[in-house]
Amino acid sequence: MARRRRRRGGHNFGAFWVCIVLLSILLVWLYHHGDELPPTEQWQPAVEQAVEHLPETARRIWEQIQNGAQQVIDEAKTFLNLQQTTALPAVKPETAPDGQLRVYSFQMGNADAHLIQTSDWAMLIDAGEAGQSEGLVRRLKQLGVTKLDCVVATHPHADHIGGMSEIIRVFEPAVCYLPQAAHTTDEYAQMLAALEDCQIDTVAPQAGDTTVFGDVHISFLGPVRDDYSELNDHSIVLRLTYGSKAFLFMGDAQSAAERDILASGAQLTADVLKVGHHGSDTSSSEAFLDAVAPKYAIVCADSIAGLSDAVDARLQALGTTILCTQSGDILFTVQDDALSVQIITPQASALPVFRWTGAAQVWDRFVKIF
Ligand SMILES: [Zn+2]
Repeated sequence: MARRRRRRGGHNFGAFWVCIVLLSILLVWLYHHGDELPPTEQWQPAVEQAVEHLPETARRIWEQIQNGAQQVIDEAKTFLNLQQTTALPAVKPETAPDGQLRVYSFQMGNADAHLIQTSDWAMLIDAGEAGQSEGLVRRLKQLGVTKLDCVVATHPHADHIGGMSEIIRVFEPAVCYLPQAAHTTDEYAQMLAALEDCQIDTVAPQAGDTTVFGDVHISFLGPVRDDYSELNDHSIVLRLTYGSKAFLFMGDAQSAAERDILASGAQLTADVLKVGHHGSDTSSSEAFLDAVAPKYAIVCADSIAGLSDAVDARLQALGTTILCTQSGDILFTVQDDALSVQIITPQASALPVFRWTGAAQVWDRFVKIF
């Protein structure tokens, strides 16, 4: 140990003398060749120019530091799962103008959510799956909705009320319509908890009940009975009219409920029919479709293949135009008693998608920045 320490001390001592020797050589060289260095006039302008550009150089360096910091912040956001991978188009929240009714059927896969909106009133029928609530809230805000006047939870299945608890907590509707049919799922319990926490009035409408919101008239056609064995048949079925135009929303009502609604003698004709139970052949019996005679049919599904061949054939026979939420959000507009329809493609209504980026990937980016 002692020998090694002595040797290391020797190394340092040697380096010191090497430096002294090099410095001496430099001084001797300058003594003999100092006159050969360029005169002051030659290097002074270059130094002055450098000094003159010093602020600009400093600004650029500062900008680069800022850019680097911004990248670090962006990476941190990604790491924290806050970065939007799809930017929302910079659109002003837009609500329906005066004298216009807008009916949106949102693209929700095999789930249901419909917004009915006038310039000063908004109603949501169903709220999709629980995992879709964040996107639905954003979409509603994008459409200028700050408060919902009422919500309809057609029946307690998760593809209709999964997102309802979040919708209730965010938009605090004045009233919630729901059938007298309970369910044992977490989604249903969460909806009831939200209704209680926000002290929202609940109404279980009876077939034949009507209500009016400004120029919007609503007739509840179902459920006619409260003893159906199938939960879908407990769906709230409502017919909404605005001027001469009518919309019929079926929830997931099946043929048993349709038979009872037909037997009730209620007026069923509608320009637009939200087809029952995602186009399945459990619903949309021939007699019922004949009574509705819709010009348009909305199928809420992630593929038009979900529409049963039998229902498709019945609608085709009536000359009905079939629209599926697979293509995007479907928007019906009623103005001056004229009905128009458009599909808002996913690109136009792009909801932000959140993506998890692993720590390793973020670390790679940090290494690149520095
Ligand atoms: Zn459903």
